[in-house]
Amino acid sequence: MNWLSNFIRPKIRSFVSQQKDVPDNLWQKCPACDGMLFHRDLDENMNVCTHCGHHLKIDVDQRLNILFDDGEWNEIRAPHVPVDPLKFKDRKAYSARLKEAQSKSKREDAIVIATGTIGGQPVVCAAFDFSFMGGSMGAGVGEGIVRAAEEAVRTHSAFMVIPSSGGARMQEGALSLMQMPRTIIAVEMVKDAKLPYIVLLADPTTGGVSASFAMVGDIQIAEPGCMIGFAGKRVIQETIREELPPGFQTAEYLLDHGMIDMVVARKDLHSTLSRVLNLLMNRTGREEARGGSRGKGSKSVNGSGKSGKGDISSAAKAARNVAKLPSVKKKVAAKITKKRAAMTSKTIRKIAD
Ligand SMILES: [Zn+2]
Repeated sequence: MNWLSNFIRPKIRSFVSQQKDVPDNLWQKCPACDGMLFHRDLDENMNVCTHCGHHLKIDVDQRLNILFDDGEWNEIRAPHVPVDPLKFKDRKAYSARLKEAQSKSKREDAIVIATGTIGGQPVVCAAFDFSFMGGSMGAGVGEGIVRAAEEAVRTHSAFMVIPSSGGARMQEGALSLMQMPRTIIAVEMVKDAKLPYIVLLADPTTGGVSASFAMVGDIQIAEPGCMIGFAGKRVIQETIREELPPGFQTAEYLLDHGMIDMVVARKDLHSTLSRVLNLLMNRTGREEARGGSRGKGSKSVNGSGKSGKGDISSAAKAARNVAKLPSVKKKVAAKITKKRAAMTSKTIRKIAD
């Protein structure tokens, strides 16, 4: 039996160990069409199914790489908040759940604050990490949104939020619900500073998140097929005892019913956001320039040409004068030669007399 232990067994062992080396997440099943997706194809296609175009969930870092110009962005650390003030415990202590999520994601909480440019425009973005306790909003996430809004106002940048969340973090009780008015105030701060506020709804956006800052964007954009709602479909169906229409609570359904402005495929997000941001951010610049030229040209603008903007028009006038200089010089020179000619003819006449 030597050949069995010396030859066959090592062969089997090497075959088994080879099998172990192969990672088990090379293939993924599309939840929409059940098609098998190879990890490399998925990465190349921004986590969108190559068979049916279904938008799978995407890692928050990967999403920010797609959105920002050249995939370049800087992370701002979210402020530290008191952890587990209620000492909450269900099947597991909240502090233990939090620690587990933190060690997995290497982040303090379910929010990432990123700064960078999109289409050349400065943007401060607060993106939810769904893998961190379902992207639920507790005091830490609320604080992150407030911090991001403050940063947008401070640096005169557009403010963008990418919610992907199950709602309020129940383990923080009323404190998590208090984040709803807090985040609304943060958004109001951005709007008061006349800066654009853009919401990019990602799958899923539900509960306390959809009932607060996620629905008050100047522009509401959503990814195709993403689920957006407050309560779940089943809960509503059981409450009103009626069958809900097909496609209920999807991005497309909300677009048809006027709740959102656009449904944009992931591959087109960067170009669409660049266009929107350039339109919104350049508007103020254009209006200022127009106000300045009007202040000088016509009398209709009520003094807006005086404060700061007057500099632009006076500079323009000076530039115009400079441009006119050669022609002025020519005219003056012509006058002088004429006078000289007249003088010389007069003197010649005098001499002759
Ligand atoms: Zn698919």
